Amino acid sequence: MSSPTITATAPSARVGRISVPDLLPTAIVGSLPKPAWLAKPEILWSPWELEGDTLVEGQQDALRAAVQEQERRGIDIVSDGEQTRQHFVTTFIEHLEGVDFENRETVRIRNRYDASVPTVVGAVSRRKPVFVDDAAFLRTQTDRPIKWALPGPMTMIDTLSDRYYGSREKLAWEFATILNQEARELEAAGVDVIQFDEPAFNVFFDEMKDWGIAALERAVEGLAAETAVHICYGYGIKANNDWKETLGSEWRQYEESFPLLQRSSIDIVSLESHGSRVPIDLIELIRGKKIMLGAVEVASDQVETPEEVAETLRRALPFVDADKLIPSSNCGMAPLRRDVALGKLTALAEGARIVREEQSALF
Ligand code: ZN
Repeated sequence: MSSPTITATAPSARVGRISVPDLLPTAIVGSLPKPAWLAKPEILWSPWELEGDTLVEGQQDALRAAVQEQERRGIDIVSDGEQTRQHFVTTFIEHLEGVDFENRETVRIRNRYDASVPTVVGAVSRRKPVFVDDAAFLRTQTDRPIKWALPGPMTMIDTLSDRYYGSREKLAWEFATILNQEARELEAAGVDVIQFDEPAFNVFFDEMKDWGIAALERAVEGLAAETAVHICYGYGIKANNDWKETLGSEWRQYEESFPLLQRSSIDIVSLESHGSRVPIDLIELIRGKKIMLGAVEVASDQVETPEEVAETLRRALPFVDADKLIPSSNCGMAPLRRDVALGKLTALAEGARIVREEQSALF
């Protein structure tokens, strides 16, 4: 993305070169709603409606549709819409050795809501790649730059039960090593941007400072692909919406992580903005990094107008260089209605186009 022109690297699938805009290339954070024939809509951890080979084929068809919708609605950096995973954290964890995913336990996620999660019962390791085949498939479906999201180490820790390590830091370090293995293979499969989802950075400040950022740095070690960290206030589900109501008139949580990330090797910081109470000037704290700015909400079924998106982007521009701004969604859109989520993609792209034209006129 540092260059507007991406050169093809997978000869079997990528034809020629594709241009993305110099300014304000759009992206989504990660998930999109799945089609109802694949998984029950509008809920998290939705069970699959298919099984075996039919499930794999269905997931690939859904991924194809997610790519097509992003492209035709004007999303420049394309994601898989997380169509092959049940959940952004647990699906990754379930693929690891040392984790018992049949005997689930109920834990409290980010001090907010209870969920049935897998249990660590032995030394964790990655017996085989988790998402690499899916990412290679995504690579064959588009000539645009692609982004792949992985859970961050600290958020993984918070989304499971540990009966083996007895130390969140030690387990995070093990996960970071595993994530680095996966990320290197995603990069080799042609992924241009590798994103780590760390909503836990908005909750556990002491641990983030003690070892969370270090674990994230371990996860991105040696990568040539661009790296991103996504920190948010969560999906638009009731537990998160209720929590937000307790946070007061200004949400200043990013003040804890941004100064540390500004000094880190992470290239892109993804944050929530539109419709939130995050003071926009906080992004000054990460000046120099690229910013994926949430310019459409995920907690509302109301589809933004392009002008509302444009206004959010304009408000950010005093604090981020225009060539480092990536208009995005606030968070994943998995729990939304499908037509609403797709409408938001269009609004995002249209709003970005308005501001792109305004900025181009300045040069
Ligand atoms: Zn999020």
